[in-house]
Amino acid sequence: MLTQLRDIVDHVAKAESLDDALALLVKNTRHSMHTECCSVYLMSNDNLRLELMATDGLKAKPKTVSLGIDEGLVGLVARTCEPLNLANASVHPSYKYIPSIAEYKFNSFLATPIIYRRQNLGVLVVQQKEKRQFTEIEESFLVTLSAQLAVVLAHAKAQESWSTQLQTSSTQQKQFKGISASNGVAIAPLWFDDAQPKVEAILPSSCLDIEQEQDRLGIAVELALKDFRRARKRFEQELNTETLAIFDLFTHLLNDPMLKGALKKQINQGDSAEWALRQVIESYAGRFERMSDSYLSERANDVRELGQRLLYFLNNEGKLDIDLSHPVILVTTQLTASMLASIPKDKLKAVISLEGAANSHAAILSRALGIPAIMGVEFNPTHYHKELAIVDGYSGSLYIKPTEALILEYVELQNEEAALSELITQDLDKPTLTQDGHRMKIHLNAGLSADSSIAVNQGVDGVGLYRTEIPFLLHQRFPSEEEQYLQYKSILETYPQKPVVMRTLDIGGDKPLPYLPIEEDNPFLGWRGIRFTLDHPDIFLLQLKAMVKANIGNENLSIMLPMISGIPELKQARILINQACEEVLSESNDHFSKPRIGMMVEVPSMLYLLPRVAGLVDFISVGTNDLTQYLLAVDRNNSRVSHVYESYHPAVLLALKQIVDTANQYNLPVSVCGELAGDPIGCLLLMGLGYQSLSMNTSNVAKIKYIIRQVTLAEVKHRVNILLHHDDAEKILADMILFFEKKELSGFIRAGK
Ligand code: PEP
Ligand code: MG
Repeated sequence: MLTQLRDIVDHVAKAESLDDALALLVKNTRHSMHTECCSVYLMSNDNLRLELMATDGLKAKPKTVSLGIDEGLVGLVARTCEPLNLANASVHPSYKYIPSIAEYKFNSFLATPIIYRRQNLGVLVVQQKEKRQFTEIEESFLVTLSAQLAVVLAHAKAQESWSTQLQTSSTQQKQFKGISASNGVAIAPLWFDDAQPKVEAILPSSCLDIEQEQDRLGIAVELALKDFRRARKRFEQELNTETLAIFDLFTHLLNDPMLKGALKKQINQGDSAEWALRQVIESYAGRFERMSDSYLSERANDVRELGQRLLYFLNNEGKLDIDLSHPVILVTTQLTASMLASIPKDKLKAVISLEGAANSHAAILSRALGIPAIMGVEFNPTHYHKELAIVDGYSGSLYIKPTEALILEYVELQNEEAALSELITQDLDKPTLTQDGHRMKIHLNAGLSADSSIAVNQGVDGVGLYRTEIPFLLHQRFPSEEEQYLQYKSILETYPQKPVVMRTLDIGGDKPLPYLPIEEDNPFLGWRGIRFTLDHPDIFLLQLKAMVKANIGNENLSIMLPMISGIPELKQARILINQACEEVLSESNDHFSKPRIGMMVEVPSMLYLLPRVAGLVDFISVGTNDLTQYLLAVDRNNSRVSHVYESYHPAVLLALKQIVDTANQYNLPVSVCGELAGDPIGCLLLMGLGYQSLSMNTSNVAKIKYIIRQVTLAEVKHRVNILLHHDDAEKILADMILFFEKKELSGFIRAGK
């Protein structure tokens, strides 16, 4: 049974077009189930009609018959999302006789909905003349087949090979939906960068430093191996074993000592890694091609594909092959923080990532840069390279080849945005007071940009979070103490007299270092943040010493520790900070004061330990991005579960309340530096919960200051106290939207179209 299932899905997946795929599906299913008729209906885009797309057994021609969602047994299956198994279909109250189908000769009827991620794509039906109930085994076969088929069909739909009569649109404009990751609107041509240089285009070249070239190759092999393992894991649920085996083959080839040896030998002879790769791959592919066994000779293509991937990793230093003569909307498969950090901001109107979610570090960086971004958009970008498009970062919509009318509408929206941005910049340098005179401290999140200096923002009370990872990500090796020292010093000097909180290295998770590949099944639960730095006191001490030295003469540094999950980590980190201070002291004659030490609250365990933390740190800062991820057990980077990542989830709000209440009880200064602090609704929620200090990206500062100035603390507290009793995030959001409307602040939370 498993083999039959696999054969059917395999054939369908390999078909040239959707029509061929569905014709094969009905033929093979009818055959495998020994039944007399099999048909498949697909749902129209408006979810109102089902069109007969293929049949093996019915009289009607495909695409000539369609049913309303409220019509007949097929409509019933689509509506209820449940299989229907009937011995005598014609006596069922929902039965509808359709003359053009002429199915009167069939009595028994078994149908299952085809559902992909809660979305009903269509209905699969088998019928038989004999009046009998289909068996349970037959029913589960059809259910399993539909579930597997759904993945293939959803993919076809996303790639636009899905075109029924009902769905053909007369207009050229295309609309796709993704997850809104950074607000704003952009109109520009799309630029698809799949960062895939071609092996056959490599020209002969030599290298000067053989050892360095071998290292480059070694890193590329490691990265490719990791990528194959990750891809295999990702597709494990969706693809069958044979298809998955391709990843195993790649891994096997990459581990092959002969292939590795051949590559090394070429480089030892003075060839560049790329040129070595081309020669070795072509010789290997040629050898396979000459084999008489057809299976083996076809493996030549796999070898070429492998070469292609290796080349990608050899060149993948965060650089993009992009024409920067005019601004574009960048489309990539997986947007990375280093990719974004390396493109000049004025050339980037918006970004679209086919994978990823709203709280990935790349998404945070887009927000920090004020670049509209949509993540997890399913479409085929190769069809639209260089086409004009509109990105609506508020609603997560992408319009390609937009109509004149739509362009005008969005130009109008851009004008409104510009007017709003002028309004909010008034009094930017003044302190932030609510209407009833309460002071909110507004700090800056910085460090995600490639610039070594940081934007001067007069309107802030200091830097609440300086992320130190990006310089580490952009290098080909760990930056030296001196390099770090110069960078930290320039930041501390930019904010004289104001506190600057520098966070120690938080790599791992979705920020792996290119030169230190870490192989893990669950990187967000793995070797990340403080866990990595405590295991590497050499790297940690270097960073701490650079920070402490940079503070001499500035005296405004606070050091913050990421990803603390228990007291021992905190104590060990403190010992190393003391050691760094003593070493700097022994090397310097200058006046010297020890930095304040703080901790991020982002692992839920720390909620219970806060009273014990109080004596060990000078302040805490809540990282709502990770706290939400760990509290709700949802990967902040996975578009498939992004709907579960709810920033206004009642549990998140209750946790935030507990943190601020405990901190106040123990006189522990507390602030929030996660994305919630820079979110218009989030900032008021936090204020209502009792937070008086928020840290956010520079692009949010003016907006958040303006919003806070339009409200009283009393009314916000009152509202939040009510919201805390709501059971779901949607209700909390709806109530906050009403509040924003009442305060005439809706422009800041424009839900988009
Ligand atoms: C957080 O987790 O909220 C945070 C500020 O840290 P990062 O986003 O860098 O993980
Ligand atoms: Mg974090």
